[in-house]
Amino acid sequence: MSTNVSDIYGSLVFNEHVMAERLPSVTYKALMRTIEKGDPLDIEVANVVAHSMKEWAIEHGATHYTHWFQPLTGLTSEKHDSFLDPIRDGRALMRFNGKELIQGEPDASSFPNGGLRATFEARGYTAWDPTSYAFIKDEVLCIPTAFCSYTGEALDEKTPLLRSMAVIEEQANRVLALFGEKRRRIDVTVGCEQEYFLISEEQYKKRLDLMLTNRTLFGYAPCKGQELDDHYFGAIRPTVNEFMKELDDELWKIGVPAKTKHNEVAPAQHELAPIFENANRAIDHNLLTMEKMRLIASHHGLVCLQHEKPFAGINGSGKHDNWSLAANGRNLLEPGENPMENLRFLVFLTCVIEAVDEYQELLRASTASAGNDQRLGADEAPPAIVSIFLGTELSGMVDALVNDHESEFESADKVAMDLGVSVLPAFLIDNTDRNRTSPFAFTGNKFEFRMPGSSQNLSETNTILNAAVSKSLKDFADAMDGLTGEAFEKAALAHIKELLKDHARIIFDGNGYSEEWEAEAARRGLPNLRTTAEAMPALISKKCIDLFEEFGILTEAEVRSRYEVKLEKYNKLINIEARTCKRMVRQLYLPAIADYAAEVAANIGKVKAVAPDADLSPQETILGKLNRGIKAIDDLLIELDETHHRVRAIPDQQECANENASKVVLLMNALRAEVDALEIVVSADHWPVPSYNDILFYA
Ligand code: ADP
Ligand code: MG
Repeated sequence: MSTNVSDIYGSLVFNEHVMAERLPSVTYKALMRTIEKGDPLDIEVANVVAHSMKEWAIEHGATHYTHWFQPLTGLTSEKHDSFLDPIRDGRALMRFNGKELIQGEPDASSFPNGGLRATFEARGYTAWDPTSYAFIKDEVLCIPTAFCSYTGEALDEKTPLLRSMAVIEEQANRVLALFGEKRRRIDVTVGCEQEYFLISEEQYKKRLDLMLTNRTLFGYAPCKGQELDDHYFGAIRPTVNEFMKELDDELWKIGVPAKTKHNEVAPAQHELAPIFENANRAIDHNLLTMEKMRLIASHHGLVCLQHEKPFAGINGSGKHDNWSLAANGRNLLEPGENPMENLRFLVFLTCVIEAVDEYQELLRASTASAGNDQRLGADEAPPAIVSIFLGTELSGMVDALVNDHESEFESADKVAMDLGVSVLPAFLIDNTDRNRTSPFAFTGNKFEFRMPGSSQNLSETNTILNAAVSKSLKDFADAMDGLTGEAFEKAALAHIKELLKDHARIIFDGNGYSEEWEAEAARRGLPNLRTTAEAMPALISKKCIDLFEEFGILTEAEVRSRYEVKLEKYNKLINIEARTCKRMVRQLYLPAIADYAAEVAANIGKVKAVAPDADLSPQETILGKLNRGIKAIDDLLIELDETHHRVRAIPDQQECANENASKVVLLMNALRAEVDALEIVVSADHWPVPSYNDILFYA
């Protein structure tokens, strides 16, 4: 199928190349000024662009268009309108104008808004985001848009991200100016590695928990897990390979730079990594990747699970957020070739370290979800404690700076630190120095934030990262105001040293999965926020609201609405899990176990009738286990039922979440443990759902 990749790559994208080819040159230039500099677009230009977009889309088979946006559900939304415009003589024309391109009015009353809009004034509008190209998906021209209320509040994930990108561009340029550099275009670069599971549709349909909650609420560990490391990077089985090939083709057509695909650590787990792009496009593309994965899996009799922890006891799925800054395409987290470039590198590096330490709770909160609660801290997932890994070389450098020993510091290639005015030598970063257990790792020329979960929209995380780093850059630029030359270099180095001393606690190069680290982190005063309920309050702390308001990224009302929406979603998900859990126990597990117990009892009777002296203690032991199990399950079911109903009725979302995290989830776990213990006692014929062995190891 994959013919010539360069022929199909971007063939369904209204990209710069298509624009240059099809738009009149004045229109093209005006549009590029909007895309690159954010200049407002006038309606005449929009009309010309819309017409040309429509002609192009129709040539490529499109009949409809949609404003494609990212409401706070975490998913993407679209409503298709045809280009159709009937005329009086009975025929129809295909029309699309500038106004329709620039602005849309979805009936948005059902999207979550956390109290920002009452439903009676529910009109939100979508606004074209020309910085992310329009594309064609299933015969629909998709126009990436932001989604706002008529009073201007952001109701989506994209708007604050775009605002944060403008802010960091400003602050990074202030810092670059201190280094005598002229104004540059600053891109936040992001590469989202997407982990996922593929299982057979046949098995999936037999599990209510997978169908309704995307994870298994029950299931005894498979006989074989991931201990042989035979799946990781292993040969890809044919069914999966077919899926991956179709996925690549479809992604390439819509301009998603899918690059790497491989089997992951857990059985049935895989990963796709794209080539990094500007954050806004990278996130749009990640959302499209996720959607295509789900759809294409169905062509191959498979189901793609994007939940953070679909199976207990083996690895969960994350979405690593690789993050850096580029000035006119030059990576600012790339150590330079000469001392001045290295000073600049150290300034940016230090600002990230400061930002992550200062706003670690906020970063943690951005990754909080019911699904990620199952993953963080379990198996290979990073712990719920935020820390930064720098690697031997950089850690050595930081130590030297913090302890004023930089003159003695020797880099890997043995270049001694020169304590002249330009103080920092060329040093090499050891790219191979990888620590897989760190939640926030420096990997050569970018940071990799590994806490985010696989189902997440990375906009919030990147908005927060951009805001926090902007704050550090701003503080640095303010402190250096008016300084130049040698005075600036000296002051900058002193400033960096102070910051590194203040924030040394966040740097940790050891094993993040170990118990010692939990204790050590507590000693250092680093918070360990294990659940969504514990993590969310950070979002509405004064410190965080101040950060967002200072840079105009989110108003207090917007922050509070997001906090409400996330908590509500968490509570709704736990409610669905609890209901599914109870339903399965009542209608599947208890009847099956009771049936089997009756069969064992009947068999004991039958055998006794024929062989009164036979030793039936093994069968009687099994019967005893089954009966005790049924009783334990029933007791827990009653307790879960009562607790679930009580908690569900708590009106305050935070309080409800606290109770869900500390009671309902634990009761579900306890119930699961009892059911799972009987899964290996009851005969396979009687077990009502496919086991982990069945699901994880298919052909
Ligand atoms: P690993 O699995 O070791 O983390 P991968 O190659 O799978 O490495 O993924 C690395 C990701 O980081 C890719 O998506 C890559 O494009 C991205 N990346 C590389 N350089 C940058 C950068 N400067 N900014 C943002 N992302 C980057
Ligand atoms: Mg990675």
